[in-house]
Amino acid sequence: MKFIDEYRDERTAQLYSRALSRIVTRPWTIMEVCGGQTHSIVKFGIDELLPSAVTLVHGPGCPVCVTPLELIEKAIELASMQNVIFCSFGDMLRVPGESKDLLSVKAAGGDVRILYSPLDALKIATENPEREVVFFAVGFETTAPANAMAVYQAKRQGIRNFSILVSHVLVPPAMEAILSFPDTKVQGFLAAGHVCAVMGYVEYEPIADKYKVPIVVTGFEPLDILQGIYMCVRQLEEGRAKVENQYSRSVRKEGNLPARKIISEIFRVVPRKWRGVGEIPQSGLGLQEAYAEFDAELRFGVAGRTIDEPAECISGLILQGLKKPHECSAFGTRCTPEHPLGATMVSSEGACAAYYHYRRRNN
Ligand code: SF4
Repeated sequence: MKFIDEYRDERTAQLYSRALSRIVTRPWTIMEVCGGQTHSIVKFGIDELLPSAVTLVHGPGCPVCVTPLELIEKAIELASMQNVIFCSFGDMLRVPGESKDLLSVKAAGGDVRILYSPLDALKIATENPEREVVFFAVGFETTAPANAMAVYQAKRQGIRNFSILVSHVLVPPAMEAILSFPDTKVQGFLAAGHVCAVMGYVEYEPIADKYKVPIVVTGFEPLDILQGIYMCVRQLEEGRAKVENQYSRSVRKEGNLPARKIISEIFRVVPRKWRGVGEIPQSGLGLQEAYAEFDAELRFGVAGRTIDEPAECISGLILQGLKKPHECSAFGTRCTPEHPLGATMVSSEGACAAYYHYRRRNN
């Protein structure tokens, strides 16, 4: 297979659907970890091709969705400072904080800039030596190498007016947390292919062993996902719980070694709060001591405080695979992409936004 259309071939999809029907003998619940996979599943109707015994639930793999409100508030506080140029990927600008978002800070005159690479923030810092440039370093293991490289280059080039607000999270501890919840329904995982392209999948093997769940490293196109589901169901039916790699065209077991090296040079593993889930031990990245001077929280002393989610938003239950978006009473009425109450409606990878765009009429 060489071209994208081949990964979307309807006849092959039907073959997978029939093959699944032949092997399923009882109900199974599988979680796709990544918001990109959720988006594909809902957009292409993959869940509607599955035998009724196979249920997909949507996991926490949307970095915008799991960034805690406290960090959004810190970003807003930094972006509102006179001397700060606040840089971010575009999808963070509309995530609602307690009373406003980064976009409204920009509208009120704050210098908030949308970038596609953290290295562009370094360039802005070099061009504006009298200002402080802060980059909002959000994401899973996928964005960590580029953010790490920006900090590495800042130190190497002596760029002192650059710092990052770190909100990095790690996938394996979140999967383990979900499996540890007493009411979890998850019996197998589709792991995120792009995360494993960076990190490899060795660290998933102890999770599969300990919790007796199959984990299939899976890509993002419809046929990738159908094949991943087929591999996962086949393991479940055979009573196996191993890590398998559906996305072998992109993922090696050891991952991308140079990318892993730069991550461990710049970051260390820390506890991190996940929006809707709570604090998960050893589930995030923070800057190493040697790079602490680039930590925006330390540089500006932005205070930590606890902020509650809007009461009617059930995004936490959705991110844990316990509810679906249309089970939220605010879905599509009080909560829409134009007026989101929770982050899972803001992000293009969020489950609520995916259901809003592709399933609203059905519901
Ligand atoms: S529809 Fe809106 S309020 Fe409901 S869970 Fe999703 S983001 Fe939260």
